[in-house]
Amino acid sequence: MIPRVMIVEDEEALTTLLKYNLEAEGYAVSTVFRGDEAEIRLRETVPDLLLLDWMLPGVSGIELCRRIRMRDETRALPIIMLTARGEETERVRGLATGADDYVVKPFSVPELMARIRAMLRRTKPETIAAILRSGDIELDRETHRVRRAGRELHLGPKEFDLLEFLMQSPGRVFSREQLLNSVWGRDVYVDERTVDVHVGRLRKAINRGRAKDPIRTVRGAGYALDEQYAP
Ligand code: CA
Repeated sequence: MIPRVMIVEDEEALTTLLKYNLEAEGYAVSTVFRGDEAEIRLRETVPDLLLLDWMLPGVSGIELCRRIRMRDETRALPIIMLTARGEETERVRGLATGADDYVVKPFSVPELMARIRAMLRRTKPETIAAILRSGDIELDRETHRVRRAGRELHLGPKEFDLLEFLMQSPGRVFSREQLLNSVWGRDVYVDERTVDVHVGRLRKAINRGRAKDPIRTVRGAGYALDEQYAP
């Protein structure tokens, strides 16, 4: 089951960034730029989670949130509010009006992704798999354990994040830049060669003896995790 996330945000660049990252993690994403338009859209279809900006044209995020909580169909819809810095008292009002969580702009994309996962795990557990599987590799997001063919692997925290990210979109090739942005975050300055170093460590951890290497290096493009390999 693919979790559906609706983004209600009038900043186009932010919407694009969020949509890109959510789709990379396997979510189905819809976007709306105005509050009043979002209200109409929510009468047609209710997503699994709503990312709602505070300041919106049409109807404000706070008012929309209030209206969402008044309707039976959307009363339980998980909402993460996106607020600007300095709206401290308003943030409190946002939560009082019924948002389940909030992040303050500018926020780190990996942190927001983690909050979204945590909220869906709580509210719609069926949409978030606790265990990812690819070939003979099994990754448990909750216990942070990784096994290959039943044997437990010991990964560093970045190697775990990297493997988790690759396992979300098997077969898809990610550039070093995409991996940096998704696993390390956009605000962090890290050289692209860092990705190669961590992929190297990840390979060393998961491939032992004659195990086939599931990580594919695509020259000039980046890396992918292949599902189609003989375990
Ligand atoms: Ca706004």
